[in-house]
Amino acid sequence: MTSTKDPITLLSTILRLTEERIIPLTRAGVSSGSKLFGAAILSRSSLKPLTVSTNNERESPLLHGEINCIQQYFTLPPASFPEQDQEKEGYRIPTKDTIFFATHEPCSLCLSGITWAGFNEFYYLFTYEDSRDLFAIPYDIEILEEVFRVKAPGDTEESLKSRPLYNRRNKFFVGRSLIELLEEAALSAEETDKWKKEIERVKGLYNGLSETYQEGKRDGVESASVWK
Ligand SMILES: [Zn+2]
Repeated sequence: MTSTKDPITLLSTILRLTEERIIPLTRAGVSSGSKLFGAAILSRSSLKPLTVSTNNERESPLLHGEINCIQQYFTLPPASFPEQDQEKEGYRIPTKDTIFFATHEPCSLCLSGITWAGFNEFYYLFTYEDSRDLFAIPYDIEILEEVFRVKAPGDTEESLKSRPLYNRRNKFFVGRSLIELLEEAALSAEETDKWKKEIERVKGLYNGLSETYQEGKRDGVESASVWK
């Protein structure tokens, strides 16, 4: 399945939303002890944001950015007629008519939350490897490996390691990074490069937030999170 939207329109909308809405919210959350993960739910037809949210692990270790966003989405009243009011922020439309965005590739908890809530298309800016290497948060990978990865007969440590951590395309959803979305657009090398730089620029905005988060962690800022 590919998105019903033009990949570049979707990419630029998500990048703008990240910069203008998710990052300011995240900055506020991180300075009071939450992790720097954010999420948004967009209408698939208009690409308008319906809910934007960030991590709230001060309150509970389960309130990851995605779960917090899904919880908030389901507190919204369902949109009703007239037609033009269907896609206003603050109203909920069926999840199958939305696109889900997570700043960071969703962990096992959030993959399940996304699936159980009926979202069938999601995107992310940072991969698991980015979370581990840039943010010193290795648990997405470790939990999938330790809890869900089972050795099949004949598996070696090597074959086990080379197996993907989850099905990025399955009966319930398709999950892609923004880089994969860009590749899907099949632009010229020059245009692709331009967008890659733009993705990198928005990723770079997280650096400052990450420092604040790491400082808070060192200073023992209060959080309900178990794996910090
Ligand atoms: Zn998560």
